[in-house]
Amino acid sequence: METVKDYFGSLVFDDRVMKATLSAKVYASLKKTIDEGTELDIGVANAVAAAIKDWAVAKGATHYTHWFQPLTGITAEKHDSFISPSPDGGVIMEFSGKELIKGEPDASSFPSGGLRATFEARGYTAWDPTSYAFIKGKTLCIPTAFCSYGGHALDKKTPLLRSMEALNKQALRILRLFGNNSAKCVRSSVGPEQEYFLIPEEMYEQRPDLRFTGRTLFGAKPPKGQEMDDHYFGVIKPRVAAFMEELNNELWKLGILAKTEHNEVAPAQHELAPIYTTTNIATDHNQLTMEIMQKVAAKHGLVCLLHEKPFAGVNGSGKHNNWSIATDSGQNLLSPGETPYENAQFLLFLCAVIKAVDDYQDLLRISVATAGNDHRLGANEAPPAVVSVFLGDELNAVLEAIETDTPYKGIEKTQMKLGVDVLPKFNRDTTDRNRTSPFAFTGNKFEFRMLGSSNSIACANIMLNTAVAESLKIYADRLEGAENFEKTLHEMIRKTIRDHKHIIFNGNGYDDSWIKEATEKRGLMNLRTTPDAIPHILDKKNVDMLTSHGVFSEAEIRSRYEITLENYCKTVIIEANTMTSMAKTQIIPAVEAYAASVAKSAFAKKELDDTLACSFEKGLVRKLSALTDRIAAKAEELENALIVLHNAKDIGEESEMIRDTVLEKMSELRIPCDEAETLTAKSYWPFPTYGDLLFGVK
Ligand code: ADP
Ligand code: MG
Repeated sequence: METVKDYFGSLVFDDRVMKATLSAKVYASLKKTIDEGTELDIGVANAVAAAIKDWAVAKGATHYTHWFQPLTGITAEKHDSFISPSPDGGVIMEFSGKELIKGEPDASSFPSGGLRATFEARGYTAWDPTSYAFIKGKTLCIPTAFCSYGGHALDKKTPLLRSMEALNKQALRILRLFGNNSAKCVRSSVGPEQEYFLIPEEMYEQRPDLRFTGRTLFGAKPPKGQEMDDHYFGVIKPRVAAFMEELNNELWKLGILAKTEHNEVAPAQHELAPIYTTTNIATDHNQLTMEIMQKVAAKHGLVCLLHEKPFAGVNGSGKHNNWSIATDSGQNLLSPGETPYENAQFLLFLCAVIKAVDDYQDLLRISVATAGNDHRLGANEAPPAVVSVFLGDELNAVLEAIETDTPYKGIEKTQMKLGVDVLPKFNRDTTDRNRTSPFAFTGNKFEFRMLGSSNSIACANIMLNTAVAESLKIYADRLEGAENFEKTLHEMIRKTIRDHKHIIFNGNGYDDSWIKEATEKRGLMNLRTTPDAIPHILDKKNVDMLTSHGVFSEAEIRSRYEITLENYCKTVIIEANTMTSMAKTQIIPAVEAYAASVAKSAFAKKELDDTLACSFEKGLVRKLSALTDRIAAKAEELENALIVLHNAKDIGEESEMIRDTVLEKMSELRIPCDEAETLTAKSYWPFPTYGDLLFGVK
């Protein structure tokens, strides 16, 4: 029988295949490009292209595509076949180095936020040799970056690669200061835990809200929700198990290290976690995972919902971004070391992260800001919209001892001076299971928990990598010029702890009192919604920092501002239109029909016996009638709120109007509709209820 070992990565042009199919010279030169970013000459590119094509064709591929990640947040591909006519009337399969390295998709229909003037509608895609090519269906997919002809990044991969380079550069400077001359590069790694819902396809099809917006816009609370806590880690149902099995197989063939799967807190909610890998590959893999989840679900008569909040009153879905930095030889720089010397270096990296998260709280919040995620953050289930760092008791005590120059409790009478030879060894804190912190240290990595389930992880990691690169740069600048390295190091770490300890919070992040303390006492930012958060990307300190590391140009930042707010507005407007349409064409007619039938039955009863009071029927008809009046009125108010949006002077103002009025009117419309659902006979209700959707998969 074929085992996982046999087919793992069978659809990937990975190192094993490269070694087997490329000449030693071509392989060495490609490897240099992958590991060190050296440019690929066209001769090598041609040889690689020919080998990839032969390999792909042998596996049944007929087409190739430059696979990229435009600012829509999903992936894009345009397929070209390998065929080329031969003089004898047949075809040969061809693929050149030029076609491998560069593509020219028509960029005009992708969002550019003003970056791509119409005269340069064509953008180009450029091969990212650090992420392996793979086969999807009958198509060879070549991971690429997507730029405008002016050189502006129109995608998420380009700035992500730039941010990794920025981090690499600054982290190496620090390592050299600690005497490490052997590390060739430093990379960040990510393991993203992905949450999702599975519901029956036939029910999904009956709900326009799910089909158009990915979430339910109506739905009364079912008699049973998640209150019994009986789903988390519960037994996986056979249909879901079959889905997971096929999903794993598909992911493994693509070399994706799908590792852990379990049921989540909400009914019908599940999670998949891969083993962590280099950030840009993890990003490609997460995009692929989301796509394949939906495809495999369809094969099982299911729909995979990746929306952050598919059901009101039920836990939403997020993505935990487990992040660490390591050298090419595998030394994790966020892992406390064996010797005091290593620990001084560890503490410096730890401080760099703490400082980065504090200085750029707003950028981290911005990196996860979408209309969908606004329903989660701060809603007692996901971390709050306030960013803070959790360290655990042990590290906290270490930092406190350093700050106050007092003995560290773990070691008798030892002054926590950072003169490297007296810094004690400390154990990594494995006791922590804090689940409410947005940014938690978990032993040898940080877990950034604010990402929404549908977010590309690129954005969060761009900000994280760059902000940490900035802290490291400040440290390296000081240390390189220091007369006394150890003294300067000690002072710098102490200063970081002093200046930034207000971002450290080890308590319950879901507590209301925390938000009060965070904002009023500690002065942390509380950017509750996307329109509150996004404008801060244009703050001078953020623009200066991002441009100084070459991660974004000013124009690129401006374009992200425009596109993110445009996305927010479009998303909510589609939701609002779907709501009014469902209310008017489905809910009102259903309630009317039911009320008419109740009235009719009262008339029939009266005819039989005119002494009957029929008070139940009369009362119900009155209630239903009042509800339809309210629904109609609220639908009209929502429509008016949408019309007023035309007066907005720019996208910033439009997004604020949506936040303040449209969303408000949407909740107001929902209330009488959900109430009507509880009073209307089930056979009249026009679409499946929460109970059907959440407990429909057997
Ligand atoms: P949980 O957070 O549920 O306790 P784990 O801590 O085992 O689970 O891991 C969650 C995710 O973190 C997995 O995707 C795992 O591969 C990833 N992970 C583990 N170590 C690291 C690391 N050093 N850097 C980045 N991600 C890591
Ligand atoms: Mg986790």
